[in-house]
Amino acid sequence: MNQQPPNHGSNRREFLSGRSISKAVESRVDVTPEEDGDAKPVSTLLTHLSRRAMATEFEIYLNRRSDYEDIEAALEALELLDSLENMMSVYREQSDLSVLNRTAQLEPQVVDVALYEVLQRGQQIYRATNGAFDMTATPLSKLWGFHHREGRLPDEREIQDTLALVGGRHVILDDEVLSVRYDRPLQLDLGAIGKGYALDRLAQSLLVAGIDSFLLHGGLSSVRASGCRDGRQGWRVKLNHPLTPAKPLGEVELQDQSLATSGCGNQFFYHRGKRLGHIIDPRSGYPVEWQGEGVHSATVIAPDAMTADALATGFYVMGVEAAESFCEEWPEIAAIFVVPARGGRTETVTVGQLEHCWEPVPEQ
Ligand code: AMP
Ligand code: MG
Repeated sequence: MNQQPPNHGSNRREFLSGRSISKAVESRVDVTPEEDGDAKPVSTLLTHLSRRAMATEFEIYLNRRSDYEDIEAALEALELLDSLENMMSVYREQSDLSVLNRTAQLEPQVVDVALYEVLQRGQQIYRATNGAFDMTATPLSKLWGFHHREGRLPDEREIQDTLALVGGRHVILDDEVLSVRYDRPLQLDLGAIGKGYALDRLAQSLLVAGIDSFLLHGGLSSVRASGCRDGRQGWRVKLNHPLTPAKPLGEVELQDQSLATSGCGNQFFYHRGKRLGHIIDPRSGYPVEWQGEGVHSATVIAPDAMTADALATGFYVMGVEAAESFCEEWPEIAAIFVVPARGGRTETVTVGQLEHCWEPVPEQ
């Protein structure tokens, strides 16, 4: 993204498991038929399909007027998830990514166009965020104990040694032949971008099948919307407060857009009263909250879900000010942060152009 814009294309327990976006499209799926001018009822019910993959629930919402063929097409789209997981998971030894992690330091490896597409976007976002988003951060996550969900405090020397094994600049992509090379041993992980990519692939599959209105969820932290819900301009999703999930923050109306939220999830530990979360600043080697207060959550709205997912992680690391400069340069990107405020309170801060699509719940 250094040369080109992104392609157009947590609360305790609940946010902590990614529940910053309420499960349903609206607080309730409206079962009351609306009436149009001729007093004919127009159903506002939704058709809902889901499938578990990548340790999360993927969901498709279609307008109820969808017919049998649409449902077949949606099921077919969900079938894609198996092969995407086989491609991107680092928890499967034979996944394309695991194989790449074992071989790319030896010589350039030609990869499938789909994997190349994710790595290429990941690298663009690595550069555009000045390294805040970095797919090579895994050794740091492991060092801090997040991979086994047992946080530990490494010493400075361990951090410096591990930083030598981290850095997107060590990933060399060749757009001509779609090959990937590491100039040192690296462990790429797509945990902060892969779910978004999966949503984009589901969307592409539905669009090709001729379905242009749908809402997709990848767990509760990633959403992609296309077209509109019957009777509306787009699709409305609710955001809940990261620290108090029962408290709504507001609603975003997405129009052919995607949204993703990053926070410190259920993966954190306390050190000297400070909560240290699983998102690491790959430049310093420390969890984001180590210095300063950090933010409670970063929600990003972008044209596609892969960009929203990666940038939500990047913006969580960068904080509000750097995100502001970013959105000035990339006007199709906007963000909603929940940040600490005086007296233990929190504040919602928006960045970029959100005037027409963000409706905050008024402060009580
Ligand atoms: P997300 O929930 O999309 O923000 O992704 C968080 C996951 O991405 C973490 O659990 C780590 O596996 C990985 N990760 C941690 N820090 C970073 C970072 N700075 N850039 C990219 N991935 C990261
Ligand atoms: Mg992410």
